[in-house]
Amino acid sequence: MLDFTKLLPLLDHVEYRSGQQLATHFNVTRATIHNCMARIDALGIELERIPGRGYRLCAPLDLLSKKEIVTNLTAEVTACMHAFKCLQQVDSTNNTAFELEQPPSGSFSVVLAENQTAGKGRRGRTWISPYAANIYASVVWSMRRPMHELSGLSPYLAICVVEALHAMGLSGLSLKWPNDIYCNHKKLAGLLIECSGELSGSCKVIAGLGVNVAMKNYRNIEIDQQWTDIKSNMPGWELSRSQLAAQLIATVVAGLQAFEKKSVSDMVQRWAHWDLMCDSEVNIISESGVQHGIVRGIDAAGCLLLETKQGIEHIAIGEVSLRGSE
Ligand code: ATP
Repeated sequence: MLDFTKLLPLLDHVEYRSGQQLATHFNVTRATIHNCMARIDALGIELERIPGRGYRLCAPLDLLSKKEIVTNLTAEVTACMHAFKCLQQVDSTNNTAFELEQPPSGSFSVVLAENQTAGKGRRGRTWISPYAANIYASVVWSMRRPMHELSGLSPYLAICVVEALHAMGLSGLSLKWPNDIYCNHKKLAGLLIECSGELSGSCKVIAGLGVNVAMKNYRNIEIDQQWTDIKSNMPGWELSRSQLAAQLIATVVAGLQAFEKKSVSDMVQRWAHWDLMCDSEVNIISESGVQHGIVRGIDAAGCLLLETKQGIEHIAIGEVSLRGSE
């Protein structure tokens, strides 16, 4: 059985590679190459096959490079990096990150993958994660704050990421409470914060981030809400996925450091700048039912401010979802 991840880097989007050439290179049969191509097909990567000439990619693949990522991190960030895994395929980067040992206080570990087979969203939902198309990253941090103080972390990191993407030249960005990043009213990225530890002591935080970069060339993408990717919104985008990954890792780490030091007093104003739903009528959906109201921003703990007939309610992140009500 030939591993498709060994074969993929040999495929080009200009030159054809013949089945025989590839079989000789790996010292396997042509049938093995054929099966491996079927595996690549199943990932949704578009391949062109011409009898007598061979195989080539329909579009260039921008694979992650651990070396390029590290080169693009500042010395300050690499100095506090404990472990770094850049993997091919995982069920979820958050799950893999949970298995890593807890990094020493003040340092971080990070897991990146080309593909998640069971990427996680909130409340048991799935994050669709096609191979080599996007960023799937999870940063592990030992947070010297008790778990009950972390409700603002998800919105806070979402602010940090949206500001970083804006600084990279992307426009039309906004935030949907508590953890979603939109671009021109379609979902571009999401965060999933998971924690373990004691309620009152410090805890292990996993900050998972999925950012859509270039999904257009992939078949079989089925997402049950409107979505978008960076390249459709910014045709002149020039960063490689590795360069983007480096900037996002640095952003999340800086956000975790600031949150730990409690230097996030401007969170409410910064959120207001990007708030997609501010002053909109919404429904808050939870196990116990649907609550209707008008969004009036967030409070300093990251709770949603919902104006209802009873007055302003502070909605905690927990197990609730926010949906527009029109
Ligand atoms: P909320 O967090 O308010 O409940 P949500 O439904 O957007 O909103 P999330 O957990 O943030 O929930 O994200 C999971 C959802 O995001 C999926 O159910 C799907 O609708 C959508 N989704 C899945 N993969 C992607 C992707 N790659 N890009 C954009 N959206 C996606």
